[in-house]
Amino acid sequence: MLPDIQNLIALQAADREILRLKEDIAALPKRVAAIEQKLAGTKAALDKAREAVKTDEASRRKYETTIQDLQQKISKYRDQSLEVKTNEQYKALLHEIQFAEQDIRINEDKILELMVNAEVREKVVKAAEAELKAETAEIEKEKAAARERTAEDEKQLAEWTAKRQAARAAVNPDLLRQYDRVAQHRGTGISEARDHKCMACQVMLRPQTYNEVRAATHVVFCDSCQRILYHDPSHDVVAPAAAAPRKRRARPKFEAGQAWYYRPSFEAHGEVFLAFINDQGQSSRRVYDSATGRQIGDILVREGEYRLAFPEDLVEDAIRLNGSWAEAEIDEWGSELPTPVLDALQRDLDLARAESATTSRGHAQPLATGHPAAS
Ligand SMILES: [Zn+2]
Repeated sequence: MLPDIQNLIALQAADREILRLKEDIAALPKRVAAIEQKLAGTKAALDKAREAVKTDEASRRKYETTIQDLQQKISKYRDQSLEVKTNEQYKALLHEIQFAEQDIRINEDKILELMVNAEVREKVVKAAEAELKAETAEIEKEKAAARERTAEDEKQLAEWTAKRQAARAAVNPDLLRQYDRVAQHRGTGISEARDHKCMACQVMLRPQTYNEVRAATHVVFCDSCQRILYHDPSHDVVAPAAAAPRKRRARPKFEAGQAWYYRPSFEAHGEVFLAFINDQGQSSRRVYDSATGRQIGDILVREGEYRLAFPEDLVEDAIRLNGSWAEAEIDEWGSELPTPVLDALQRDLDLARAESATTSRGHAQPLATGHPAAS
């Protein structure tokens, strides 16, 4: 590789790092501001909660004063009632006393209501205080971390700036001008040529241009974006060997003691995997959600081997899958298929579908066979 090119690659790396560090440094005050804004929100909530407590206290004092006034009024009425001359006057005073007593009860109820409320308000204040305390501590930590990061960024920035200066000083001035000119407009000034393409603008290079870049005897530019081109032999694509023939999917064995099926819909559950196991004249059925692997319902056991015992499950849309695990292992899974099992079933289902899509219908349909209703 030409020394100029090596220095330009180093320069581009330095330019990129410097840009990243500057952006990071600029973002830090914004982060701190966002944190502080959140703190201000919590403070405001606390102030509001405290204000509500004060308002309630003022209301309570007002009701208490009202009650005192009413009590004074009542005792005044009682004094007057000793001096009245007529029954009418006496009745009128009695009425006033009753009225005042009723008013006292109303005010007492209001005070009681405030007292109940006060407990709730107290809790709100306490919670806001705790939150503020936690947030304040958190913010101090975050601010310290931000300051630390800025200091580290500044240090790296100084290092990269020195590297940048060194790289620039080593490049031919004309070439450097070309680099700067393109970098100013396009963000970068040098691009890798790989697999006959300029990796920056993705345009195919003329064969001669590509060969010149590879030869690296002089500097070559991309015709399309004007960036300086370089070639890195370690990135050369090795032509892949002729694609290996697709592995054929293993055929599920129908006489097997265990059989897995997929059904696109099962009762109200949608897509499921079904596992049937024949065991000494009986057969069992387990059902699993095909997306999550979670077991649906209980294990069902019936007399006879599964194809005779569970004809309703072996309908046209059921797809027979490969899969065989020891029953003890299946029991150990509990209510959920392990991910590797679920993946294996999904993969086999994909293969089965791909196979049935490429082969003629009726010939290799991987559907249920052998159940009485189908024949
Ligand atoms: Zn280009």
